[in-house]
Amino acid sequence: MERQVAPARQARLADLIRQSGCTVALTGAGVSVPSGIPDFRTPETGLWSQVDPMEVAHIDVFERDPARFWSYYRPRFQSLGDKAPNRAHEALAELERRGLIEGVITQNIDRLHRAAGSENVIEVHGSIETSSCRRCATSFGVEEVEELFDAEGVAICSACGGPVKPDVVLFGELLAESTMARATDLAERAELMLCVGSSLAVYPVAGLPQLTLDQGGRLAIVTQGPTPFDAEAELKLEGEVDEELAAIVAALA
Ligand code: ZN
Repeated sequence: MERQVAPARQARLADLIRQSGCTVALTGAGVSVPSGIPDFRTPETGLWSQVDPMEVAHIDVFERDPARFWSYYRPRFQSLGDKAPNRAHEALAELERRGLIEGVITQNIDRLHRAAGSENVIEVHGSIETSSCRRCATSFGVEEVEELFDAEGVAICSACGGPVKPDVVLFGELLAESTMARATDLAERAELMLCVGSSLAVYPVAGLPQLTLDQGGRLAIVTQGPTPFDAEAELKLEGEVDEELAAIVAALA
């Protein structure tokens, strides 16, 4: 790993992007932190501070005690709906428009990459964009879900009365095979994988950078804090993700 002052490293990353015939971004929670969305895994304050998200945002809880699931998930769902993309999302959308990146693989469910204008977005954990009835498969947009809650605070399908679930991958659920296949294909074709705002610790997404390395591709990491791939990366930038990416777009102009 190279150790240089930040502007030199940003210029070096711009060079890597210029030289790459296929660059793919892989993003995690850190890319949305400047939009005011806290990392799910950082300790929370208030009512739910004593609750492990993995035990509430879990498919078993959704199925056995949907009121408890929604009492945790509904406020988050609502607050995500208000959030706007930041300069990191905008930078990645701009790089795609310029033909400099092929697409974005993201672990985030906040749909902010699409909101920023990214078109080839693979949301491996799904997104809050839609929720679906588990019985009749009717799909509801994010702005429609609030109208579906019954007196117990459970989202109920307006067509059939069945349970409505966000189209996100909950804890205890498997990732969609077709989505992972697309992510795997992109990771294998990448000459450069740009990992942004992810600790690269959660499988199976954490396996994607290894696929790029195995095919002879390079990694660049823009993330605060350690990742398991730091030693194998061409370079690592550890500033604020929005500032780093905005600087890289400027360096590529
Ligand atoms: Zn239904």
